[in-house]
Amino acid sequence: MEKTVRQLDYPVILLFSVVTACSLIGVPVFGYFHGFSLLDWVMFGVLYMASGLGITVGYHRLISHRSFDCPAWVKACLLVIGGWALENSALRWCADHIRHHARCDQEQDPYNATKGFWHSHCGWIFQKSPHRDEIYESKLRKDPIIMWQHRYYALIVLSGLGLPFVVGYFNGGWMGGLSCFLLAGVARVFFVLNSTFCINSICHIWGAQPHGTEDSSRDSWWISLVTFGEGYHNYHHTHLRDYRNGPKWYNIDPSKWLIFTLSKFGLAYNLQRHRA
Ligand SMILES: [Zn+2]
Ligand SMILES: [Zn+2]
Repeated sequence: MEKTVRQLDYPVILLFSVVTACSLIGVPVFGYFHGFSLLDWVMFGVLYMASGLGITVGYHRLISHRSFDCPAWVKACLLVIGGWALENSALRWCADHIRHHARCDQEQDPYNATKGFWHSHCGWIFQKSPHRDEIYESKLRKDPIIMWQHRYYALIVLSGLGLPFVVGYFNGGWMGGLSCFLLAGVARVFFVLNSTFCINSICHIWGAQPHGTEDSSRDSWWISLVTFGEGYHNYHHTHLRDYRNGPKWYNIDPSKWLIFTLSKFGLAYNLQRHRA
C-alpha cells in the first residue's frame, strides 16, 4: 500500500498554539485581574457572528457549493469577514472543502474522520497535505474576487484583529484596546475555529444519518447552535448545493435565514433547493 509522507506545518502549529494558549490561559487571567467591559463582550458577539457567517455563508455555501449567486460587492464583503476567522484564504479553504466532499473518508480527504476525532478536529491543519491538487482550485482561480481575497489575505486577517483593538482603544485607551483585542480578537478566533472544527469531527462521528449512509456525515442539531446551522451535516453531504443545511422550517440554520433575507433585498439570487 502506498505510504503517504506528511510534513509538519510549523508556522500553523505555532500560530494555533499561541491562539489556544492565549485563549485558554491568557484571556481568563487577564479577565480575572482587569475584567472585560460590556463593549468587549459586544465586540466578541458581533465579530463571532460576522466571521462565523463569513465562513458558512461566504466560504462554504457561496464559494464551495455555489448554493446561490450574489452581487460582486456582497461576495467581497462575505470573503473579508470570512477571512477574519483565520481559517485560510477562501481559495485554499474551499479547495480543501471540495476535496473533502469528493474524497470523503478516504486518504485524500483533508479532515478524514476515519483517522479519529483529533485528526479531523484540528490535527489535520498541523500537517502539509500531500494531496493538494490543482483540480480542486482551478475553477476557483478564475474568480477575480477569490483571487483578490487570496492576495490580500494577510491584510484582511490583520484588519480583523486590529478592529477590536481600535474600538477598545477609543473606549478605554491602551488597556481598553488590549482587552478588546484579547476577547474579540484572539479568543473570538479560537471559538470560531473550534466551531468550524466541530463540523469535521463531531458531525462525522456522532449523530443521526436520516438522509444517507454513503459516508460518515451526521446530523447534530445542537452543533448548529454554535455553527450557524452547519450541524445538519448529513443533509448537507446528501444535497450539496442546497443553500439550506437544515431544510425544515424549524431547523436552526441562521446561514439559511441570512441567505433568504439577502434574497428578499435582491442581494442573493438563484438560491438552490433540493425538492424532495
Ligand atoms: Zn460542504
Ligand atoms: Zn463533511
